[in-house]
Amino acid sequence: MDKMAVIGAGQMGAGIAQVSAQAGYHVFLSDVSVELAQKGKAGIAKQLARAVEKGKMDAADADAALARIEPVGDYAKMAEAGLIIEAATEREDIKRTIFENVGKVLAADAILASNTSSIPITRMAAATTDASRFVGVHFFNPVPVMGLIELIRGLATSDATVDFVRGYAERIGKRVVQANDAPGFIVNRILLPMLNEACFALGEGVATIEDIDAAVQLGLNHPMGPLTLADFIGLDTCLSITQVLHSSTGDPKFRPAPLLVKYVEAGWLGRKTKRGFYDYSGETPVPTR
Ligand code: NAD
Repeated sequence: MDKMAVIGAGQMGAGIAQVSAQAGYHVFLSDVSVELAQKGKAGIAKQLARAVEKGKMDAADADAALARIEPVGDYAKMAEAGLIIEAATEREDIKRTIFENVGKVLAADAILASNTSSIPITRMAAATTDASRFVGVHFFNPVPVMGLIELIRGLATSDATVDFVRGYAERIGKRVVQANDAPGFIVNRILLPMLNEACFALGEGVATIEDIDAAVQLGLNHPMGPLTLADFIGLDTCLSITQVLHSSTGDPKFRPAPLLVKYVEAGWLGRKTKRGFYDYSGETPVPTR
């Protein structure tokens, strides 16, 4: 399999297209329009140029990888792809429509995968042409840097599909962990309660933003504190994953912290809105309370 496709050319889709092209795959890249797919490719060009500048990659390799990414405006060429990874907006209706449409051109032995963070694979499989060839492949942000893929097996996913994705992951140099189709899979199941608890601690006045972050960073040897990380992920994303964990398990331990809800309602979503637990309008982030 040398040709594959990535649907959705945002943060994650662009990263997946980049690492796949670097590993030698020809990648058809699509979004809601060919212009957005081209914009995704332009972003990848910048990432590759930065890697060359830093001496992490040869200019010739970067050029060759970029040349292997082909923005497309429809699904027709995806008939040639052995693997199609969906990395569109985290909305089930959008993803289902994509699966129904791409299913019309999918080759008889091609694998369809979703990079969803929270939507059950087994449930979405119902919108695909063959549930045995559908699987979750959960990458981490930023994709070129993070070494992990969570492979999520739906109820009907076949062994052959799992083996195929393991082969792909090996070729792009990522370590695979296999998770059941359970809310939050492994990483978010463990991470989000920690971020949510940091919001509870702040809301209850246990400590300041800076001290909560310093405590976890230095006391637990994490690369960054939980409030900094929540701002980085996006507080809306943190809240929506926490809500999925809460609603799908019914377990009160996952109830969202009132302060997290309040920040999202205020539109303080973290780095992307320049304000979350920190204010990002200046050169260095400043705690907001
Ligand atoms: P993003 O907003 O950066 O990108 C989503 C892209 O999907 C956008 O470019 C949008 O135009 C496109 N899109 C919307 N509808 C589409 C359609 N019908 N066809 C094709 N493209 C369409 O979001 P993202 O952070 O890249 O997230 C994408 C997926 O990856 C989501 O399922 C998300 O849960 C998952 N994910 C995100 C992260 C993360 O840290 N951001 C990590 C792992 C997984």
